[in-house]
Amino acid sequence: MDLPDTLDDALLALRHGLAQMARWGCRGFDCSEQTRSTLASWDRPPLSAQTVQIPEHERLEDIRNDLGDCRRCFLAGGRTRLVFGEGHAQAELVFVGEGPGFEEDRSGQPFVGPAGQLLTRIIEAMHLSRDQVYICNVVKCRPPENRNPLPEEIGACRPFLERQLSAIRPKAICALGAVATRTLLDTDAPISALRGRFHDYRGIKVMPTFHPSYLLRNPDQKRVVWEDVKKIMALLRIPL
Ligand code: SF4
Repeated sequence: MDLPDTLDDALLALRHGLAQMARWGCRGFDCSEQTRSTLASWDRPPLSAQTVQIPEHERLEDIRNDLGDCRRCFLAGGRTRLVFGEGHAQAELVFVGEGPGFEEDRSGQPFVGPAGQLLTRIIEAMHLSRDQVYICNVVKCRPPENRNPLPEEIGACRPFLERQLSAIRPKAICALGAVATRTLLDTDAPISALRGRFHDYRGIKVMPTFHPSYLLRNPDQKRVVWEDVKKIMALLRIPL
């Protein structure tokens, strides 16, 4: 293909090209940050092909400091506060959710809204307190309108979740909902096919179960979650 000799020729060719596209029905381009981010993610390898370098003997404070005022993905633009996680630094049990919601974004704490209050009741039913476990999310910033985080947002934030889990080294992880389960287990299988039994994440037992916000909409599923939670209690030798 011949290249235009001058800027005028290039602009003329561009004008003709755009006019042709208009005749074909094109009425503009979606150049939003989210769309560009989504398209960029198609060039990235799948999660299973990405390796996260996890430094040894890290403390949670080091990881938090490393995150800083993180701008690694699109979600930074809409957050009020980054929600890193909270709880016991050597907890035997870590709960992993999907991402902060409205209340969490305001407070900077994980699981403090209605779903969080339900999670607190589940933890207490396990004869534990929030101080004895660790609670965090896959992404640390609130997705707009509480949508599911996009693959590239998960990809940007996942190394920090992996480092948190490596620093805590719990005996069990309770993956709350499909996003947390799929991220930790690197699978597309539906949570209904995964919940109820332990899976492996880097030598740590993972119990997928339904997210508390799902339970708020489907209270009849609480019994199912209780069955999953009882298996975690058995693993941790917590009497019923
Ligand atoms: S979601 Fe994670 S990667 Fe994205 S800006 Fe927030 S902390 Fe950074």
